[in-house]
Amino acid sequence: MSDVKRRTKIIATIGPSCADETTMKAMVEAGMDVARLNLSHGTLDDHLQRLGQLRTIAEVVGRPVGVMADLPGPKVRLGSFEEPANLHINDEILLEPGDGMSSGHHFVVDYESLLADIREGDRLAVGDGSIVLEVFDHTSTSLRARVLYGGTVQGRPGLHIPSDRLKLTTPTEDDLRYLDAMVEHDIDMIALSFVRSAHDVRRVGLEPAPRGPLVVAKIETRSAVENLDGIITESGAVMVARGDLGTECSIQDLPHLQKSIIARCIALGRPAITATQMLESMISAPSPTRAEASDVANAVFDGTSAVMLSAETAIGRDPAHVVATMASIAQRADQEFNYDQWGRQLKRDHLAERQAGDLAVTDTMTLATWQAAKEIQPKAICCISRSGFTVRAIARFRPEAPILGFTPEDRTMRQLTMSWGATPIKIDRIDDNVTTVHNVLEIAKAQGHIRAGDIVAVLGGSSASVNATDTLRMVRCP
Ligand code: ATP
Ligand code: MG
Ligand code: MG
Repeated sequence: MSDVKRRTKIIATIGPSCADETTMKAMVEAGMDVARLNLSHGTLDDHLQRLGQLRTIAEVVGRPVGVMADLPGPKVRLGSFEEPANLHINDEILLEPGDGMSSGHHFVVDYESLLADIREGDRLAVGDGSIVLEVFDHTSTSLRARVLYGGTVQGRPGLHIPSDRLKLTTPTEDDLRYLDAMVEHDIDMIALSFVRSAHDVRRVGLEPAPRGPLVVAKIETRSAVENLDGIITESGAVMVARGDLGTECSIQDLPHLQKSIIARCIALGRPAITATQMLESMISAPSPTRAEASDVANAVFDGTSAVMLSAETAIGRDPAHVVATMASIAQRADQEFNYDQWGRQLKRDHLAERQAGDLAVTDTMTLATWQAAKEIQPKAICCISRSGFTVRAIARFRPEAPILGFTPEDRTMRQLTMSWGATPIKIDRIDDNVTTVHNVLEIAKAQGHIRAGDIVAVLGGSSASVNATDTLRMVRCP
C-alpha cells in the first residue's frame, strides 16, 4: 500500500519564518493542506496579505489550499519581550496590568482585571504551559510571583487565567472586527478560541457554510469539555487545542480528552483537528523526537482528521521540512490504520441515536455506502455535494476507498481540504442525477482517479432541487 495517498490532512501556521511566497509554496508542495493565520500575533494587514499570497500559490500549484483565520479570543497575553528571556526556578517576577514591553523580571499583562481576578497562592502558566509561576504577594498595583518551573519566554506569550474566573467571553469585540475583515476577504475557516458553550459559537452569527466560513470551535476550556455535544452540533469542525486545554485540565487527563473529543466529533460528521506541540522540537532540530513521531501517529489512530503545526512552522528553522516530516509520519500511520474496526465501532457506538429529518437520511445513506463499499470494494467513492456535508458524513466511516468530493462551490473545495481522506474536485454544476454522474465519472477518469471498467460508488441527490443525499449508485465506469 506504499503508493497510497495520505488521508490525514495537515494544517500549518504561517508566521515570520514562512511569510515569503517561496517558503509558503514549498510548504504547499510538501503537503500543507490548510494554512492557519493566527490573529493573536502580527497585524491584520500582514495576515490579509498572506491570504492573498496563498490564493495565488494555490492557483500556481493547481491544488486548493484552505485558509483558516484563528481569532485570539479572550486570551490574556504578556506585553512583547524585546528578546527571549530565560526564567529560572525561584526568580522573582513583578506582574502589572497595562500596555508596554515585558522583560525577564517584569511582566506587563494586557488585562485590566488582573489584580481583581488573581489571588495569592494562584499558579499562573505562561505560554503553552511549560513555565509556571506562583503568586506570593498581592498589592494594590501589582502582583509578585516566583518561578516554579522555568524556561524561555519570547514574543507575546499567553498568561493562563483559570477560565471560570476570567471576566471576558468569546468572541471579543476585536474578534468580531477581525472576523468582518476576514469574511470580506472570503476566508474559508474561522477558528474560535476559548469557546465555553454552544451559545458562544452562535454569537459569531455567520451564514452557514459554504456561504459563510466553516467555524472551528477550539476546545480548550473545562466548560467546553462539559458542553461538548452542543458545541460540536453548532460548529463546522473542532480543534483539540492542547496548549490551553492542558493547563485548564489535569495533564494526565489530556490524552484521554483528546481521544473522546475526536471520537464524538467524527461521529457527528465534523472534522477534528489535533493541535499543539506535535513536532515542537523541530522548531530548531532537523528531526522530531521519538515521542513526537508517536504523538502524530497516535493522533491518526485516535481518528483525527487533521494534525496541526504551530510554532514549528511559524517561527521554526525549516517550515517546509517540518511539513514534509509530518506528512510522512501521517501517511505511514494512515497505512496502519484499522479502517474496518473504526467503521464498525462508529456504527455500534454512535449511530444508534436516531437523527431527525434530512440528517437521518444522510446517516442512513452514508452508512449504506460504507457497508456496500466493504462488499464490493469500489475504486473510489464519489460524493456530489454543494456544501461538503455529505463528504464529511461519509469520511467519518473512514472507508478504505478514496473519497472524491465533487462540488460546484469554490469555497466548499477549500473547506474540504480539512476533511479526512477527501480529494476536492470542481464541477461546473449539479444537474439531474444521470447527467451529473456521467460528468463526474468523466472528470475522475480524466484526472486518473479511476479507469474504464472500475466499479465506483456515487453518492448524491436524485435531482438538483433535492437537498438531501438520497441516491447511491454502484456504477461500472464506461
Ligand atoms: P494560540 O493559543 O492561539 O495557539 P499561541 O501563542 O500558542 O496562540 P501558536 O500559533 O500556537 O501561538 O504558535 C506560534 C508561535 O509563533 C508563538 O510562539 C508565537 O509567539 C510565534 N509567532 C510570532 N509571530 C507569529 C505570527 N505572525 N503568527 C503566528 N505565530 C507567530
Ligand atoms: Mg490557544
Ligand atoms: Mg498554540
